[in-house]
Amino acid sequence: MIDDVRSYEAFLRFRRAEILERVAAAAGRSGRDASEVEVIAVSKTVGADEVVDAIHAGWTRFGENRPQELGRKLEALSRVPEGADVTFDMIGNLQKNKINQVIGRVRLIHSVSSAHLAEAISKRSEARGIASDVLLEVNVSGEASKSGFSPDDARSCAEAVVGLPGLSVRGLMTMAPAGDPDAARRTFSGLRELADELRARTGLALETLSCGMSDDFEIAVEEGSTLVRLGRYVFDQGFVR
Ligand SMILES: *Cc1c(COP(=O)(O)O)cnc(C)c1O
Repeated sequence: MIDDVRSYEAFLRFRRAEILERVAAAAGRSGRDASEVEVIAVSKTVGADEVVDAIHAGWTRFGENRPQELGRKLEALSRVPEGADVTFDMIGNLQKNKINQVIGRVRLIHSVSSAHLAEAISKRSEARGIASDVLLEVNVSGEASKSGFSPDDARSCAEAVVGLPGLSVRGLMTMAPAGDPDAARRTFSGLRELADELRARTGLALETLSCGMSDDFEIAVEEGSTLVRLGRYVFDQGFVR
């Protein structure tokens, strides 16, 4: 597997080139430019050393799903060249008592899954004198196992949530059902259509559509994703597409 650091870094570099090529091709199929789609490397299953390797391999945008792990990874940044522009996004469920471990330390919170959570982030951000950039997580597919606003809740809460101080809603995030490409496509197009509706309702740009993971990112990009979140495809040598 990982024989030495240099070969893992070489693997990461190779994978990154392959990923960026596939993203560009998928963007082209939907008449968009590759520059309209950003990829974040989801580092939740690897350690801080692998994150440093990934930075050397060219990655600068990362995603973590647990506040404690986020803290560990941020500490590792002391080992990368000064001035390197590296940021983390929070992509996982966020409990209210962990909000202070996250705000001010991440570029973007993807997983604002309820109006209560939005209010709590707003309150704590305001108290700290910062504005948190967030996405509203929407359960477009309606699976019981998934968290997020239902599309109807998103419609009815959008105006109140975007009016909260200390919080800036940049767009929407969703996750598709696993192992079903047709359902994934419907989920991603549903997210895009919902964003169009909410733009008209709120006047916000909602420029970010965060959707697409290792198994379905090309479909997501074809359907308008601007931000794909890849874990296994970036880091796992055993992952095959
Ligand atoms: C783990 C995770 C990902 C990455 O999943 P892969 O299938 O490994 O690419 C993306 N988004 C969220 C919210 C995750 O928890």
